[in-house]
This record gives sequence, structure tokens and C-alpha cells, in this order.
Amino acid sequence: MPIYKAPLEDVRFVLDEIVGLDKLSALPGYEDATPELVGQVLEEGAKLCEEVLFPLNQSGDGEGCHFENGEVRTPKGFKEAYTTYIEAGWQGLACDPAYGGQGLPKLVNTMLEEFICSANLSFGMYPGLSLGAYNALAMYGSDELKQRFLPKLVDGTWSGTMCLTEPHCGTDLGIIRTKAVPDEQGAFKITGTKIFISAGEHDLTGNILHLVLARLPDAPAGTRGISLFLVPKFMPDADGTPGARNGVACGSIEHKMGIKASSTCVMNFEDATGWLVGEPHKGMRAMFVMMNAARLAVGIQGLGLAEVSYQNAVNYARERLQGRSLSGVKAPDKPADPIIVHPDVRKNLLTARAFTEGARALGALTAYKLDVAEKHPDERTRRDADEFVQLMTPIVKALFTDIGFDSANIAVQVHGGHGFIWETGVEQYVRDARICQIYEGTNGIQALDLVGRKLPQDIGRLLRHFFHPVGRDIEAAMEKDELGEFVMPLAKAFAKLQQATALIAQKGLKDPEEAGAAASDYLRLFGLVALGWTWLTMVEKAQARLEAGEGNAAFFEAKIKTARFYMTKLLPQTNSLFITIAAGAKPLMELEDAAF
Ligand SMILES: Cc1cc2nc3c(=O)[nH]c(=O)nc-3n(C[C@H](O)[C@H](O)[C@H](O)COP(=O)(O)OP(=O)(O)OC[C@H]3O[C@@H](n4cnc5c(N)ncnc54)[C@H](O)[C@@H]3O)c2cc1C
Repeated sequence: MPIYKAPLEDVRFVLDEIVGLDKLSALPGYEDATPELVGQVLEEGAKLCEEVLFPLNQSGDGEGCHFENGEVRTPKGFKEAYTTYIEAGWQGLACDPAYGGQGLPKLVNTMLEEFICSANLSFGMYPGLSLGAYNALAMYGSDELKQRFLPKLVDGTWSGTMCLTEPHCGTDLGIIRTKAVPDEQGAFKITGTKIFISAGEHDLTGNILHLVLARLPDAPAGTRGISLFLVPKFMPDADGTPGARNGVACGSIEHKMGIKASSTCVMNFEDATGWLVGEPHKGMRAMFVMMNAARLAVGIQGLGLAEVSYQNAVNYARERLQGRSLSGVKAPDKPADPIIVHPDVRKNLLTARAFTEGARALGALTAYKLDVAEKHPDERTRRDADEFVQLMTPIVKALFTDIGFDSANIAVQVHGGHGFIWETGVEQYVRDARICQIYEGTNGIQALDLVGRKLPQDIGRLLRHFFHPVGRDIEAAMEKDELGEFVMPLAKAFAKLQQATALIAQKGLKDPEEAGAAASDYLRLFGLVALGWTWLTMVEKAQARLEAGEGNAAFFEAKIKTARFYMTKLLPQTNSLFITIAAGAKPLMELEDAAF
């Protein structure tokens, strides 16, 4: 049986030491988010995830969703768990109090999302999609749409979807065919087919609000001709009660590799009534609000799966007895030593651990910057924070989901043959983690976003929000003897990142294929340095706490040892990444298509 305990101590360390909860509650509007309150919220959230959501994870995987007569039934226990979730107000945790939300920081919600994704990723898809729809509507919806629909999304009685993908287009949304024709009431009639729509149909809520990309009759070709519409499953009455059925129906659900308890639907729109969200032909802009938030959320899905995979791998490695330690017997009273003594098993465990804890710190920092970008009184500070988030979004999405998949794979490996068996529970994490690398823009597309958009934006201004603080922190750490062994590897890796950036900027200007060829390796190199940066800060803080004799010494010592592993065993991967980047596009492009 798989296990899960929310990593509250590590989350608390990250919130206190990497972000600084006092800075959070100093932001206007977040005065109530005191360290005590945040602690209580996270403890309650942990309980919900451990006791309500996690017990349904494996059974939900085994049972999957049911499709009968156009309706979808979620697995046993999901409806009750969802009711518990919304009745406790979790859906509106970070939403605007004007619509019934609790107005807590996005950072707190992000930490909760990690717990949910560890406990039950399929369950998390339903509230996650609703939050995405809330974000897009809150930013681009008319006042009337907001008043009418946001309170229902916030209290969770209605849910949301994002309907982008069509059978012939996923990455290239410029070629979508779904049509929107104005009607006489000032609304629109939407017709078309969307596929792979998460939470498109289910039995958890009384209504479903679809945010749909479609083309108006006079739309220019490509992404400049896409508009966004809100299409409810049931047309609400004036008082908000779901009334007549709208022209949207689920045609079928997919039978898929993972997240089996999350419904993935073909949605058919036939003259469905919808309302424009934002301006005509500017739908991509509104959808990007939803997509950017969703990309960060998918990164957190990767983090959640990495954490639960790590916990199960460690648990098994402590119990499983095989062979004897190379340095002499460790458990003489037992027929063999636990496999945790073997260097190769430890390498697997530490890889998952170091990536997971580093990602948690970087994820928390990015979520904090989201809060600063929204709430800080100083405009320049808000802009800088927003630009940091823009830069980090593809990295969080792609790096964290790779980490989630790799850690799940590690958990299977540590379990040996038992890892391959369904009952053990960890092979589910591999299957569930795989989709995170694909949806919300594949990881390859995230890498292109990083090199094609984020790098050159405003002549490298976004980059400076990362390069400057990292450079400053390295310089300061060089002055401290006790940080020497940690800062030297980071300084070398950072130099490689700077060289790679200059190389791509130079070559990519002349030939975009050079930038495209380097993109994935560059994102990985960037991500490894970013995690190294957070590890340097964590070491410094852990050393300080140890010196002051505060808190749990074993926890801080483990932090320092894990940092040593990261800096010496994982961060040097940046060297080989640099070499492959420097090899350029030719080795990828010279083989003729026909010769493949
Ligand atoms: C379980 C599940 C849930 C989903 N949920 C939703 C949802 O709720 N709403 C929704 O709208 N969609 C959803 N999707 C769709 C998902 O977002 C798409 O599958 C994804 O964006 C990729 O699109 P595609 O499958 O058409 O692949 P394609 O776009 O055909 O890509 C195929 C491959 O080619 C690569 N590629 C494509 N174009 C380029 C390029 N220009 N440069 C380099 N490489 C390129 C891609 O990286 C990929 O490896 C979901 C999919 C699944 C499987």
C-alpha cells in the first residue's frame, strides 16, 4: 500500500527561509496571512489530502471514470470528497473576497496544490481547471459575467474547463476551426468539436462553465483571429439557477495511460450559446492568463508526484532486505541489510530528494513573486516580479514535470519487480506523471518559449531578473568560507549558463533553427542552475539555524547533506548540457527526412 504524509516541515522551512512569511503579510491585502494563520491552513490542508483525497487515489485509478448516455460518473468516493473539499472553502482559498473567496496569497494555494497533487492528481484536476477558468474570467470577463459566474466558481458549486484542443490541432492553435456566430441577443452561437477536455463532463457539480476558443466570421487567419467564449452546460436563470440544457455535450471519454479518475472528454458544441470574454480576436491573450497560471500549476503537479514517489521509495528502501552493505553488515540480526545501505539505491533516493526539495523552493519563490506582482504598492516592483514569473513559467512547467516523471521512475526502480505491480502503487505515479510533460504545452514547446520569447524579450530584460540576483548571491557567498564547497560548483554552472545564453543569442539571431535545436538542453541547464541557486540559499539558512541552535538540528543537517549531493552529483550535468548546446543544429538537421 502506498503512503503519503504532507511535507509540512520542509514547506515551513521554505516559507520561512526562502520567501519570508513576514514579507508576504506585509503586502497590502495579505495582512491576515500571518505565519500562524498560514501554518494552520496548511495543516488543515495536509489533513484533507492525507485522510480524504489520498485514500481515493489508487481506487480511482483502478476504477476510472464511467461514460453512459452522454454522462460521466467519477469513481466511487470522488463526489463525497469533492463536497468535503468545497464545503470547507478550499476552492476559494486564493480567490477575491468580492466573489466569496478567502483572499489568501497564491503562495499558500500553491503549497496546498502540491499536497493535493501528491495525494490524488486526478482529483486535483477538477478544482484546478475551475481555478484556471476563474483567473481568466476575473481578468477579462465583463462585470456582468463576473457577477453572474464567479461566485459559483469560487464556492465550487460549478466547475470550469478550458477548451482549446481540436482533433487536428493541439500545439498550433492558429488553425482551430470552431466557429462563433453572433446571435440576436448579443450572445454567440458556438459550433465545433474539442477533444481531450479535462473535466469536460462529470458528476461533481451542478453546472460546468466551458471557456472555449473559437473564430468569429470576420476573423483574420492564425492566432490573431481567435476569440474566447464562456459556454455553460446549463443556461442559468436570472437568479443563477441552472436552467435549460445548452448545445454542448460530451461525445465520449478517453481511455488513457494515467490520471484515469480525471475525465478527458470529447466535447461537441452545436449552436451552443456563449458570451465573449475579452475583446473579439484577442482570445489568446485571455487564454494565456489561464494557460500561464495552468503551466505553473502543472509544474506543481510534477512536484507533488516527485514528493509522493520519493516518500514511497524511501519507505520501501528501509524495509526491503537484500544483500549486505559493501562496508560491512549493518543489520546482523536480520537475514540481509535493508537496501537503503547500497550506494546505488541511495543515489536514486537522493536524486529524487534533491530535485524535489530544490523544486519546492523554486516553486514557492515563483508563487511568491506572483503575489508581489499583484499586490505590491510599488509599480516597478510589481513589474519586476511579473517578469520574473514570466521567465520562470516555462522552467517550472518543464523542469518540474520532468522531475516528477523521473522521481516516479526512480520509485519504481527502488521497488524492483514489486514496483512494476499495480498493487504496490508506484507504477501509477509513472503513468500519472507522464501527461504533465505533455499538456499545457509540451515540454519541448516550453523550451521554445524560453529561448524564442523570454530570452530576447526587451533585449534580455527578463533574464536580468534572474542573472543579477544569482550573480550577487554567488559573489556574497564567495566571501564565506563555510559556503565555499557549495558556491564553487554553482559559480561554474552559472558561467556555463551565461556562455550558453550568449551562444544561443548569437547563433539564433542568424538561424532560428540553432535556437530551436538548443532549446530543451538550455531549459534543463537553466533549471539546474536555478535549483542550485535555491540550494545555496537553503544551505546558508540551515547553517545559520544550526549555529543559532534553533529548531530541528537533524532537519538542517539533512538539508546541508542533500545540498552537497546536489552540488556535486547533479549540478555538474550542466557541463555536458553545455557541450551538447555548443554542438549546434547540424547533427540534428543533416539527416534527410526521407532517411529516417
Ligand atoms: C489527459 C489529457 C488532458 C488534456 N486536457 C486538455 C484540456 O483540458 N484542454 C485542452 O484544450 N487540451 C487538453 N489536452 C490537450 C493537450 O494540451 C495537447 O495534447 C498538447 O497541447 C499537445 O498537442 P497535441 O496532442 O495535438 O500534439 P501536437 O501539437 O501534434 O505535437 C506533437 C509533437 O510535436 C511537437 N511539436 C509540435 N509543434 C512543434 C513546434 N512548432 N516545434 C517543436 N515541436 C513541436 C510537440 O512538442 C509534440 O512532441 C489534454 C490532453 C490530454 C492527453
